[in-house]
Amino acid sequence: MSSSILIIYTGGTIGMREDPADGTLKPFDFSQIKEEVPELNKFAVKLDSYTFDPLIDSSDVEPSLWVSLAQLILDRYEDYDGFVILHGTDTMAYSASTLSFMLEGLTKPVVFTGSQLPIGVPRTDGKENLIGAVEIAAAKDEKGHARVPEVSIFFDSRLLRGNRSTKYSAEAFNAFASPNCPPLAEAGINIRYNTDLIRKPVYWDAQLRVQTQLDTSVAILKVHPGITPQVMRSVVSDPHTRAVILETYGSGNAPSKDWFITILKEACESGKVILNVTQCKSGTVNMDLYATGARLKHAGVLSGEDITTEAALGKLFCLMGRTQDNARVKTLLEKDLCGEISK
Ligand code: ASP
Repeated sequence: MSSSILIIYTGGTIGMREDPADGTLKPFDFSQIKEEVPELNKFAVKLDSYTFDPLIDSSDVEPSLWVSLAQLILDRYEDYDGFVILHGTDTMAYSASTLSFMLEGLTKPVVFTGSQLPIGVPRTDGKENLIGAVEIAAAKDEKGHARVPEVSIFFDSRLLRGNRSTKYSAEAFNAFASPNCPPLAEAGINIRYNTDLIRKPVYWDAQLRVQTQLDTSVAILKVHPGITPQVMRSVVSDPHTRAVILETYGSGNAPSKDWFITILKEACESGKVILNVTQCKSGTVNMDLYATGARLKHAGVLSGEDITTEAALGKLFCLMGRTQDNARVKTLLEKDLCGEISK
């Protein structure tokens, strides 16, 4: 039996065209994308599409779009074998990360893709990306189960786990990296699936549940030489901040000055969640390695291990939306919920 796929178009460069009036790129509708990619008609796959209104540049993505996306997938879940989401590259890693936490009990592929050049441009990367994403979303194993029942990003011939991805290049076709997790699949003459790495559901007949409550009272604070107590306090001690993602140096190190540690300690003691995520693109936080990391740990800061900032944000939004109990949030933060940390 052939697969059926829903292509969900949210906007992004893949479907943009130059506006002759001012030379900027603006989105056009999905029928034009299909015209540009007649190859889509050659698949033995039933393809339907759903277009968001308005189409957006992904710099305008808000959590409300994630809720709409998750709700749409839930509403159409029984009708399709997989979902392809066309999305701008700028915030694709945030969207894919957060969706991975919002869609609980997922047994079908949700593949994000987009492009660096619009699909109507001769050298576009959009065609290959879209065709590959559809093929992967439709792929099934011998038992008829989805090959990749995860939220993923397909870009420049590589399928990356959504919550391990980060936008790495503003120019190269190879725009995304997943430094702490190898690709789930690579497309050459054939698509090679990294079967051992791909997460499988505990029950293939699980019901999809969607977490639509997101609590966005999270701040991201990048530590840097010269950071002042005023800046630290304005972010960490703000009463509206329930959690802070602290982007630290190397293996989770930060200034050891007393004022710096005191601000964090006070926040932790008041019940706030402070999560240590490294500024490095690859590798993990280890607060036991240096005295400067150990001071953070003693202050009550949690280790984000090798999580990306994008995944940390989505995980916090979801966990905090699920419960008001920060102690519970902290317990769940340290667990690997859907492949976002190497445990
Ligand atoms: N600004 C665009 C967006 O993220 C860039 C892209 O799609 O590549 O929507």
